[in-house]
Amino acid sequence: MSVPKSKKIELPANITIRDFAQIIEVSPIQIIKKLMTNGVMASINQAIDFDTAAILADEMGFEATLESQEVPLEKESGEVPLWRQTIADEEEAALTARPPVVTILGHVDHGKTSLLDAIRHSNVAEGEAGGITQHIGAYQIELKGRQITFLDTPGHAAFTAMRARGAQGADIVILVVAADDGVMPQTKEAIAHAKAARVPIIVALNKIDKPNSNPELVKKQLSENDLTPDEWGGNTMVIPVSAKQKKGIEDLLEAILLVADNTDIRANAKGAVIGTVIEAELDKSKGPVATLLVQNGTLKTGSIVVAGNAFGHLRAMFDFRGNKVEKAGPSIPVSVMGLSGMPSAGDVFRAVGTEKEARQIILERTEASKKQATTAKKMTLEELFSKVKSGETRELNLILKADVQGSLEPIVNEINNLGKGEIAINILYAETGNISENDVLLASSSQAIVIGFSVQADVAARRLAEKEGVDIRLYDIIYRLIEDVEKALKGMLAPEFTEKPIGKAVVLQVFSLSKGSNVAGCRVTEGEIRRNGKIRVTRGKDIVYEGEVGSLKHEKEDVREIRTGFECGIGLKNFNDVQIGDVIECFTLEKTDAE
Ligand code: GDP
Repeated sequence: MSVPKSKKIELPANITIRDFAQIIEVSPIQIIKKLMTNGVMASINQAIDFDTAAILADEMGFEATLESQEVPLEKESGEVPLWRQTIADEEEAALTARPPVVTILGHVDHGKTSLLDAIRHSNVAEGEAGGITQHIGAYQIELKGRQITFLDTPGHAAFTAMRARGAQGADIVILVVAADDGVMPQTKEAIAHAKAARVPIIVALNKIDKPNSNPELVKKQLSENDLTPDEWGGNTMVIPVSAKQKKGIEDLLEAILLVADNTDIRANAKGAVIGTVIEAELDKSKGPVATLLVQNGTLKTGSIVVAGNAFGHLRAMFDFRGNKVEKAGPSIPVSVMGLSGMPSAGDVFRAVGTEKEARQIILERTEASKKQATTAKKMTLEELFSKVKSGETRELNLILKADVQGSLEPIVNEINNLGKGEIAINILYAETGNISENDVLLASSSQAIVIGFSVQADVAARRLAEKEGVDIRLYDIIYRLIEDVEKALKGMLAPEFTEKPIGKAVVLQVFSLSKGSNVAGCRVTEGEIRRNGKIRVTRGKDIVYEGEVGSLKHEKEDVREIRTGFECGIGLKNFNDVQIGDVIECFTLEKTDAE
């Protein structure tokens, strides 16, 4: 059978469904549905490989060939960011010092947000009446007459991705390491990001107020990760701080200035205007509002700016205090109004002379991501899909809507991390804006749940959801959202049971038995502990064990249960690592009644 080929197109090795849809000029939803009918669940932002795209294109009357590998225009290749290149291209004599731009990276819960707050409050508010109320994703502080700009992206683990990108835009990375926890996976990731971006690292050794902090051990771990402290003969500054008690903050800021003095942090305030989009959101009355970090040149009210695929005359600019400003030079973050659309966090922006020029740049960007060529090797659709299909049975489909572009990607990353277990999570669609009928329709046709973050569902959407039996869930706090998805996963693993708490005990002592197994000497503090109950052991915020009671004794006697106020010995099945201070929860699993 030969289908007449109406159009030839070139596609890259991998392409997101969104971009692909744009090229073949159909709705992304149509492509998602097409993939779904072939047993593949994919979200709009998910990439499909060339072979899949070529087959889909073929079905829609296009002949696709594979592009040659070229770095698209304006894309940061991981080598030298475009703004750095722009500064490098400026005349040496025109370069002057600019404030260092600092980003804070580190493992979850090590104190990034607390440290950003501590710095903000210890310095920014000085001499100001009302303190700070604006949040624009960046702020500045002053120390000894010098300024430092901090990238202040939202404070949850979910924002690691955004912060990692921040490393590209920053001059200095503060790596927060909790002195009681040491170097953890995300610490290593952050080190890798900073190194890739060739940005110097200062370590903030946080939580030194904690009695169990162990700075020396952390320094050893840092040395093992190529960050030997200067006091050990290396060249990494390690500054002990307590974000909680606001100790060591001044030392940290001084360290930043010191590193800044030894780093080439300059720009041409009169040169080509270029910088990075920090965040962007759609304001109901103001339209798109974006925070731009100027990295070279001076941005002015009225400038024509191209940011990602949006452009516009800047109608108004505000500093991080919310004060209107007319211009912003290098390293200054400003919140701007007047863009035609929503750029993404991390996009490059520049000021141009005319609107025509702006349009031309956008066109070039789009074109650049479309070209290239060699011949394609084909595989049948069935072959391709059968591979994906092997794990198809258990999956959770989600449609995600959020208010701000910048929060989508981190949420998607967090959710994808959850989906690495037994059940796959497919984000069919992740977009900004309120939940609409369209979202509900897609959810209904793909048995998906619609999740909204800081958005509303409009009336029509709600009605349709009720009619179609689609679940819409709205959140304002990311970890609640993530927690619920996690719960949904667990719910899917054991849908017919819910947990009923029976009691709690705290571990006062640990006894070693002759056979090498340990028994927890406990006092029951709530309810009762049952011999046949399920058990969960928590240590601080961590769950360290879930399982069953192996033995339950009261003064050497085996017992079936033991109540509040009594002491007992609890042996845990297949768990020997119980510690003093652990909390043992006892619960039963009860069958949930069908609705
Ligand atoms: P992030 O996930 O890295 O942003 O960490 P957070 O700033 O949210 O802090 C995580 C937890 O550690 C919070 O409960 C903080 O109150 C606590 N924390 C942060 N800094 C310190 C500190 O210097 N000392 C102590 N004791 N706790 C801290």
